[in-house]
Amino acid sequence: MLKTAFRSHSCNDLTSEEDSQEVKLVGWVDRRRDHGGLIFIDLRDRYGITQIVTDPELSGAAHAVLEKVRPEWVLQIIGKVRQRPAGQENAKMATGEIEILVNEVKILNEAETPPFEISEENDENEEIRLKFRYLDLRRKRMQKNIVLRHQVLQATRKYFYDQDFVEIETPILIKGTPEGAREYIVPSRVHAGKFYVLPQSPQQLKQLSMVAGFDRYMQIARCFRDEDQRGDRQPEFTQMDLEMSFVDAEDVMAINEAALISITKEVRPDAKIKATPFPRFTYDEAMNQFGKDAPDIRYELEIVDISEECKDCGFGIFAGTVEKGGVVKVLKVAGGAKFSRKDIEALEDAAKIYGAKGLAWVKILELDKNKKMDGGIISNNFSYQGVPAEKLGEQLTREIAEKCEAKANDILLFAADDWETACTSLGAVRIAAAEKLELLKGKENEFAFCWVTDFPMFSQNKETGEIGAVHHPFTRPKNLKEFDKLVGAKADLSAVTSVKAEAYDVILNGYEIGGGSIRIHERDLQKKIFDVLKVSDEDAERRFGHILKAFSYGAPPHGGIAWGLDRLAMIFAGEPNIREVIAFPKTNRAEDLMLGAPDLIPDAQLKEANIQSVVKPKGEES
Ligand code: ASP
Repeated sequence: MLKTAFRSHSCNDLTSEEDSQEVKLVGWVDRRRDHGGLIFIDLRDRYGITQIVTDPELSGAAHAVLEKVRPEWVLQIIGKVRQRPAGQENAKMATGEIEILVNEVKILNEAETPPFEISEENDENEEIRLKFRYLDLRRKRMQKNIVLRHQVLQATRKYFYDQDFVEIETPILIKGTPEGAREYIVPSRVHAGKFYVLPQSPQQLKQLSMVAGFDRYMQIARCFRDEDQRGDRQPEFTQMDLEMSFVDAEDVMAINEAALISITKEVRPDAKIKATPFPRFTYDEAMNQFGKDAPDIRYELEIVDISEECKDCGFGIFAGTVEKGGVVKVLKVAGGAKFSRKDIEALEDAAKIYGAKGLAWVKILELDKNKKMDGGIISNNFSYQGVPAEKLGEQLTREIAEKCEAKANDILLFAADDWETACTSLGAVRIAAAEKLELLKGKENEFAFCWVTDFPMFSQNKETGEIGAVHHPFTRPKNLKEFDKLVGAKADLSAVTSVKAEAYDVILNGYEIGGGSIRIHERDLQKKIFDVLKVSDEDAERRFGHILKAFSYGAPPHGGIAWGLDRLAMIFAGEPNIREVIAFPKTNRAEDLMLGAPDLIPDAQLKEANIQSVVKPKGEES
């Protein structure tokens, strides 16, 4: 019930059933039309729009007021519901059968002319939308997105509450927790010279909640990472954070899969989930097949390895790569023979972002006896055009085409490089080719979830040789015996990069929407991991002493996951970036244009916080 002192109904309530009723509505002037004597107002609130009409003959005073109102003024209207004249109904509007004949109008507030139209989107630049976010949020699209986000949060909470999860709020002012990003730091006034950091995630606190015996924890948690913003990431973002005790990876995945299905059905009942149970790929499979550890499986396009075939082939680039321990991979794009030189160049640019030096290709054309083919290798009824075909020769070219199940009018796109570069560059080509061929057209409502598991536990920095945790250092190795053997040998630490983690990511339409792992709950094992990561005993004690200590007081086996709720809401809303589903987002330079943050603060305040700035902000240098 929306009835308050100000209104009897919302702007989306009234139909011909309320004909002749006296009603009281409030809202903003969406549009105003003067039609020779009659004035029409579209009155808008959060719920919808109702048409208001005055007739100078019937309500002179109200008419005079409505003559001067402008868009975005806030009005209260008292009037009578009446059926719209025949032919003037609007079937697209919930209130399209009726209009309100005004008796009395009260101006609750006037408004300046807004910097952009509220009732219509006109492609204005995002900066102006962010600066006047409270006006942008009045628009239909944003109202819908924010309400949808709210539904995602509610459905998520409800699902997990029903499964005995306890929502525990963890602090925002904490000590560093390693998730691989730079932290925001907050000076302590009371403890001069000391700092808090903002959580990159509640990782350690949720693990400590398991030590505390809570068994099933969840939280809609705010996380902070001080990174240069890539793509549409935000310096602060929202996670559904979850941790469970006495579980294995299957338990965590099962409950999360069920939750995601249930939430999708509730929030997007029109959506079609591509496959249940969610398909699963190991990290190696995902990289080999799709060139990405967060594959979009709404379209096929799979990558095939032809290293074996290319071992002793006559083509120096391919054979040489294999000899050096690299791989040769090929992506068949059905119907891609029609790609122009420019199209292929665009695909090549995508590959180069991931370090590929180029993109070799072979087009397969049907042999047309009547048409002269320029060059190419002829085999059976096909002409194979492109440098690799000439170099590989007829038989090998045909074998490779057969391995890829290629047909006439397809294109083969090759990568010869180290494994990771070959996979990721063809992965990028795969996405670009799918876009070019519009393979996602008509799949707007398709939700393709999948799991990716068996991630490497550690990675080695190519330049520094340093070993880092791929997920975070609390992740459990999948095979403890193998881990012990490799760590025990100590000879070549890079060998530990072959250790797999008990970690899993959940993917939706090519985006990683969640990731987690089974954790280490033994103090000794945790110390061994720190050893691999070259965290000294002293450093481990200083940074993680609290969790190592906690592990010595009967920590249960446990594991968890976190979902990126902004991304999930973005996909549910069918929006292209997460800012569209965040009420008050920051730009990709981490600024709040509406509030004007970050900002200078007065010297006295700095002093009180025991801070002295060593740089003058831009524009203030002198
Ligand atoms: N804390 C991890 C993250 O924020 C998720 C997890 O392991 O539960 O990515």
